[in-house]
Amino acid sequence: MSEKLFISSDRCKSCGLCVVACPKDALSIGSESNSSGYKYIQVDEEKCVACAICAIACPDYVFTVKEVTE
Ligand code: SF4
Ligand code: SF4
Repeated sequence: MSEKLFISSDRCKSCGLCVVACPKDALSIGSESNSSGYKYIQVDEEKCVACAICAIACPDYVFTVKEVTE
């Protein structure tokens, strides 16, 4: 079992708070827009350690960390 970060991209408002909060520099605003017209967040899965700091920082509940079987 390990932890993995999941993103609800339609909730993202492109505010950038999580980009600043992430200690691993794993987040960036992408070039694609979501259904509300905001450029949404992208995660670099090579860098992400599923610490959930972004989930605490995001005011719009974009992130969830779940246990996965790999
Ligand atoms: S879970 Fe941690 S490492 Fe991964 S994107 Fe969020 S803040 Fe960064
Ligand atoms: S903090 Fe949340 S709403 Fe703001 S850019 Fe990050 S994921 Fe999007």
